[in-house]
Amino acid sequence: MSTPVVATSGKQDFIRQIVREDLASGKHVRVKTRFPPEPNGYLHIGHAKSICLNFGLGREFDGLVNLRFDDTNPAKEDPEYVEAIKEDVRWLGFEWSELRHASDYFLAFYLAGEKLIRDGLAFVCDLSAEQVREYRGTLTEPGRNSPFRERSIKENLDLFQRMRTGEFPDGTRTLRAKIDMASGNINLRDPALFRIKHVEHQNTGAEWCLYPMYDFAHALSDALEGITHSLCTLEFEDHRPLYDWSVDNVDFPNHPELWSYLSERGFPTAPAKPRQIEFSRLNINYTVMSKRKLLTMVDEGLVSGWDDPRMPTLQGIRRRGCPAQALQLFADRIGISKQNSLIDFSVFEGCIRETLDAAAPRRLAVIEPLKLVITNLPQDHEEVLSFPNHPKDESFGTRAVPFARELWIERDDFMEIPAKGFHRLVPNGEVRLRGIGIVRCVETVKSSDSIVELHCTLDPESRHGMPGADRKIKGTIHWVSAKHAVTAEIRLYDRLFSVPDPDKDDAGKSYRDYLNPDSVRVASGFVEPAAAALAPETSIQFERLGYFSSDRHDHRANAPVFNRTVTLRDSWAKPG
Ligand code: ATP
Ligand code: MG
Repeated sequence: MSTPVVATSGKQDFIRQIVREDLASGKHVRVKTRFPPEPNGYLHIGHAKSICLNFGLGREFDGLVNLRFDDTNPAKEDPEYVEAIKEDVRWLGFEWSELRHASDYFLAFYLAGEKLIRDGLAFVCDLSAEQVREYRGTLTEPGRNSPFRERSIKENLDLFQRMRTGEFPDGTRTLRAKIDMASGNINLRDPALFRIKHVEHQNTGAEWCLYPMYDFAHALSDALEGITHSLCTLEFEDHRPLYDWSVDNVDFPNHPELWSYLSERGFPTAPAKPRQIEFSRLNINYTVMSKRKLLTMVDEGLVSGWDDPRMPTLQGIRRRGCPAQALQLFADRIGISKQNSLIDFSVFEGCIRETLDAAAPRRLAVIEPLKLVITNLPQDHEEVLSFPNHPKDESFGTRAVPFARELWIERDDFMEIPAKGFHRLVPNGEVRLRGIGIVRCVETVKSSDSIVELHCTLDPESRHGMPGADRKIKGTIHWVSAKHAVTAEIRLYDRLFSVPDPDKDDAGKSYRDYLNPDSVRVASGFVEPAAAALAPETSIQFERLGYFSSDRHDHRANAPVFNRTVTLRDSWAKPG
């Protein structure tokens, strides 16, 4: 007896509802899902939705989840993508039960094709692609039967076998399902199940020149792996009848001969009748998400690569400094439904801020520096201050921050002629230097009209532990000790596109024309030693500046490089 699964998920979307019912009714003892990427590009944030759904179900319902490469289209696929996809899934925090390739099953698909022929449900068709289109009919008109539809089983078996051995050139023949040329669903008008393609495959090499069509391969792969719930995006809704047709008519479980043949050859677990369920895909504004467009941007050098921190790829998002937990939070927040919608980019950024606010230690950096000299301290004055690493979480501990007579502050934190409501440093005004005390600006040093240095005096009574330490003052600014600071390259990233809908086809313009010219600016700034010393790929908040991450590839302790992940506040919000 198997113990009933106690569902730990509080999520209430319709897919989880179906899963709960299927477990409660005993239809399935254990759920099994799969994430099935085609290895023809890098994963993007849309895939993260599907990954979090499939692997999330596995986790919540104690189920199994396969990672399956849907590699039935040899021409566009590449092992580089296979490796990157595995890395991305793991980075998101998931581990698969079994790693599979649709190409592992090419023989099974072939045998399934033969079975359909023997059952009179498939035939070899000699029509060219163009003729097939002519015969197919339209949405309003039925199609016509192929003249090859009534071939004998014997002839079909012979031709199908010769298609496999490579006798015929590309495009000369297909194996088609025999369903209904008058069906209202065009996917059921005798769809092709196999095509001839003399192309080497990234997994099977030159072994095959006969490749299955996506719908057929997908359905049979699910059945072979014992997938219980096959989750896909809404555009496959119209393909579901063909999915079911394929599963039902090949019918692995009730085909002992075929099944034992496959099991002897190491094919997976008990076959099942999987159920396809569609959900709406993720669409986000200010970005493009098709792999083809992302590839074009890489190829044309519009971005620095697949992992350019502005790219919506998981590699880009990661390099930018977004933690995997923020993507999971995002997936939870947008939820699962059948409703197509466009998610505002700020929802994603909000999830990053929320995650990093809790998870990122604080550090000090100055990006646009201005020298501030505390003239009432001795030339060689040096101190080590203790700063909390997180204002709301003591478990982050403290760190040593060196302080000396000369500091860098942000140029923006001083105004010679103060604007209304400006509460930071002004000539003869006071400001609090974070963790030090209150300084007064007594002199501005200029060189040909521009300010190069501020001379200030520090009120000794305002220092930590002194009676005036709590004296009220409006502004507090941050700083780094000039003598101890490390020069850092700071890459200030912003959204890649400057319009909400870069995909819109407007007066012949394409997404390329909507790239945000300010999507990256590289600044040279100063960071405190404890920031330079961070390991690559560490997320931090530079106080008052935003969330940053030490670059995965380029950051060095003696030559630090930081990427801005996101600003502290949403600067894109519509005014009003
Ligand atoms: P693209 O259109 O970007 O090339 P794709 O759908 O062709 O993407 P696949 O590798 O076939 O990419 O997708 C693997 C899985 O991820 C599929 O189950 C697919 O439905 C899902 N997926 C892809 N894009 C999204 C998205 N934007 N939202 C949710 N799921 C998605
Ligand atoms: Mg696809």
